[in-house]
This record gives sequence, structure tokens and C-alpha cells, in this order.
Amino acid sequence: MSSTALPTTEDLRARARAGLARLGVTVEEGSDFPARSPITGEDLFGLRAATAADTEQAIADARAAFLTWRTTPAPRRGELVWRLGELLRDHKGDLADLITIEAGKIRSEALGEVQEMIDICDFAVGLSRQLYGRTIASERPGHRLAETWHPLGVVGVISAFNFPAAVWSWNTAVALVCGDTVVWKPSELTSLIALACDRLLARAAEEVGAPREVHRLLLGDRTIGEQLVDDPRVALVSATGSTRMGREVGPRVAARFGRSLLELGGNNAAVVAPSADLDLAVQGIVFAAAGTAGQRCTTLRRLIVHRDIADTLLARLTAAYRKLPIGDPFDETTLVGPLISAQALETMQNALTRAQAEGGKILAGGNRRLTDAAPHASYVEPVLVRVDEQTEVVREETFAPLLYVLTYDTLDEAIALHNDVPQGLSSSIFTRDQQEAELFLSAEGSDCGIANVNIGTSGAEIGGAFGGEKETGGGRESGSDAWRAYMRSATNTINYSSRLALAQNVSFL
Ligand code: NAD
Repeated sequence: MSSTALPTTEDLRARARAGLARLGVTVEEGSDFPARSPITGEDLFGLRAATAADTEQAIADARAAFLTWRTTPAPRRGELVWRLGELLRDHKGDLADLITIEAGKIRSEALGEVQEMIDICDFAVGLSRQLYGRTIASERPGHRLAETWHPLGVVGVISAFNFPAAVWSWNTAVALVCGDTVVWKPSELTSLIALACDRLLARAAEEVGAPREVHRLLLGDRTIGEQLVDDPRVALVSATGSTRMGREVGPRVAARFGRSLLELGGNNAAVVAPSADLDLAVQGIVFAAAGTAGQRCTTLRRLIVHRDIADTLLARLTAAYRKLPIGDPFDETTLVGPLISAQALETMQNALTRAQAEGGKILAGGNRRLTDAAPHASYVEPVLVRVDEQTEVVREETFAPLLYVLTYDTLDEAIALHNDVPQGLSSSIFTRDQQEAELFLSAEGSDCGIANVNIGTSGAEIGGAFGGEKETGGGRESGSDAWRAYMRSATNTINYSSRLALAQNVSFL
């Protein structure tokens, strides 16, 4: 199914301009840096990219603001984030529109992304009164041993196109309450939503009397990101994107002994056991694999099904895939919007060709759609491919709605297949057998940063720490105690006796 009617680029341009105006954004138009929409695959208007000098100035401003922001009491810092959360609530619809226009997300997912931003603001406001360390039993009489947490410095946030606003908020809301200042380099594909977020934060800062320079936005391509990566004034580089990007960023930041927080690619799998509730599994699998047109870092890319139920499950999945409504993401009935670019479509098609050459069989999907209505856009049917083995192409992340299906006989075999990929982001098992579920979650089970039971791999809540192992980069952000990455700890020994006792009973003088 697909609706053939799509908005025109002129409609999208007008909608973006009207939303930006309501958000208070004055667009500095230029010619060197286009804003575009995957809905039609065409440019909306030109923007001005930041220069190396702008980047230098932004880092200097953020560093200067840090020197006062770090001494502002954390609950006062929380007021800025509280106000930001309020403004996000007020402008939820306009922000979601920009996400749909630039990233192609369907309406309910775009609204969900803004909700996630609101949620992390609420979380960070609470956190602003809970940035505590521990008191540790000292081995010496008359001594107190304590751990304190201090602001870190300027945080450079580099973000990907597919969560163009939420990833910023996960980092920025937490960094701001931790006493850090932020310089943000968003994806070159999602500048408009970045302008909107920056404007709302500036408004919140004006209203609560916080320095405007606690946040700086730099539109531009990877060269701006590279400048942040190499600048020793940027204490933490939090970079979200492909493993290719992380492979470049990680060593460069390490070379100057900076800190990095890497949130990179995934190759997420779900195991479906014989006892699984198949109604629930089908729903969970289709949302995780085809939702967001397969463009979530947590998208389900591999399905590992017990041989006894494979035919039944695949028949149901095939039927569900054939009915997926593909088209205009603003249309409330659409479930699958466009891929971000022609390059993304080409990468998907190449992966599909390789998978078939390696013996894979297409069970459903794979055709391009809406080529007449939007020849420059990339709409494609989510595809289900049955494979006998976990070949090289299956072990790679293809950032598109491409789900490989493998079968297994024993749970040990399923877990071995599951873990035998370079990435380690998200995972799940569908089972009603408690032993199987617990084994999957145990030390000898899934090796991912996220492991779920009876729910798909995507759609995490902000309360937990988010991130993954191996080539996913090891970073954790958002909830739980991920805030510690944005602060530095100091261990304090306080002697309140009148005797100098040395540790480990050392005697001296
Ligand atoms: P990308 O790697 O192409 O770009 C991400 C960002 O990095 C962009 O802002 C880009 O300009 C910048 N960049 C690229 N090379 C750089 C370099 N050498 N130095 C500094 N900055 C550089 O990724 P994308 O296509 O925008 O996003 C899709 C990828 O992101 C997928 O692999 C997906 O799995 C991953 N992702 C991961 C998470 C996560 O939390 N683990 C979340 C979202 C997306």
C-alpha cells in the first residue's frame, strides 16, 4: 500500500517557514549549505554554514561561560532546563513538523521524539538536586574519605540525522545541570530542527537569567565536528553516528587525552523462542524492523527464530510487511516514510544484492515506491530476507529497513549467533520460558548494552542508560547514572584529628 499523494517541496518550505517563525527562529539564509527534505528529496532553502572562525569563537564563548556556570548552584541550573522543557511542551507540534520535514519520520514518531526531549528535561531537573557522591569508610581514625563531583567543562555534541533533536537533548539537558556548557554540531541533514532547539534554549536562558553562551550551535559538515574533536578546550566530545565516524573521532580525542562518549552503529537482533506469544512478537518485530523506515540505531536487523516456529512466524511477518502503508510521513495512516537520501537507498540495494548472491531469499518487500510522485526521494518497501548463515553482509549495519531472518535449534546456538557480530547495541528475546529469558539477560547471554524480553529492540525510555558495547562505542547517555560522564570526580581525604596518620600504616619522620 502507498499513498501516491505527497506534499510538494513548496508546501514543505511554507510549513517549515511558518513553524520556524512561531518558534522565533530567524533563518540566516545563505547559499552554501542547503536544508532539504527527504519527503521530496529536494532542497528547501539555503542556509549559512559556520566557518572555522565561528567555531573558534563558539568554543571560546562556551569556555568563558563555563567559568561562571560551574559555580551556579545545580538546582538553579536545573531551572534553565525546567524552562526549556516547558517551551518544548508549548512547541511540540512545530518541532515535530520540522523533524518530519527534515528526517522523514512519521508524525507519531516525530511527536514521540519531542516527548523524549521533554522527558529528559524532567529527568535532568530532578537530577539537578541529586548529583551526589559517596562517603567512604576511611582506614584512619579521625579521617573522612569522600567523593565529590564537579562540572567538567565544554561538551562538544556531534549528532546524527535520525534522532536530530532527542540526542541533543539527552546530552544537553544533562550536561547543563552538571554545570557544563555545550557546543553542538548537528547532522548536516537536520539544520532546521537544530536552529529551533537552539532558539528555545536561548529563550529559556533569557527568561531565567542564565548566560546565553551556555549553548552554542554550529551548522556545518564534518569539518566543524573535526575542529571540536581536536580542540583541547572541549573536555568531552559526545559523538553519535556511524561506527566509521567513531573510529575517526575516538582516537583523535584520545590523542589529546580528552574524553569521548561514543554512540555508534548497531546490528540488533531478536531471538524468537518456541514458547513466544506470536501476536506480541509480530507486532514487536514489525515496529522494530520497519518503523522509522529502519533508520534507528536500535532498529531490528536480524531475527533469530527457532526452527519449529519459523514457517508460522514468517508467514505472519510476510503478510504484515505486504500491508505496510508507505508514503507521506505527515499522513496519519502512513507507517513507513522515506529513506533519508538516494545514497541510503543505494546502500540498501547493494546490501540486498550481496545478500542474494550469498544465498539469501527475499520473502517480502524491497521495491522502490513513489518514483513518479517524487523522483528525487527514496521510498522503499521494508524487506524481509531469509538467510542460511550469518554472512559478512548480515554482520554489517545497513541503515535501512532490511531484516535478515536466521533459524536456530538450541538457545546456546541462538545466543552465539546473536553475539557473533561486531556491534553490541540492542537485543531482545521473545519467550514465555523464564529460564530462557533469564539466560538471555545473564552474563552468558546477550552482550549488548540493551537487552529486552518480550519487546522489540527499539524504543528505549530515557530513565535507563542508553548505549552499547563493541563497535557501538561503549558510551552511555540519558538516564541512570550516565550523568557521571559529564562530570569529574575528586576523592577527598579530610583529617579532622591532630595526628598525621599515613595510609597503609607507613611511618615517616
Ligand atoms: P554519520 O556518522 O554520517 O554522521 C554523524 C555525525 O558525525 C554528523 O554530524 C557528521 O557531520 C559527523 N561526522 C562525520 N564524520 C566526522 C568526523 N570524522 N569528525 C567529526 N564529526 C564527524 O551518521 P548518520 O548517517 O548521521 O547517522 C546514522 C548512524 O548513526 C547509524 O550508524 C546509526 O546506528 C548511528 N546512530 C547511533 C546512535 C546511538 O545512540 N548508538 C543513535 C543514532 C544514530
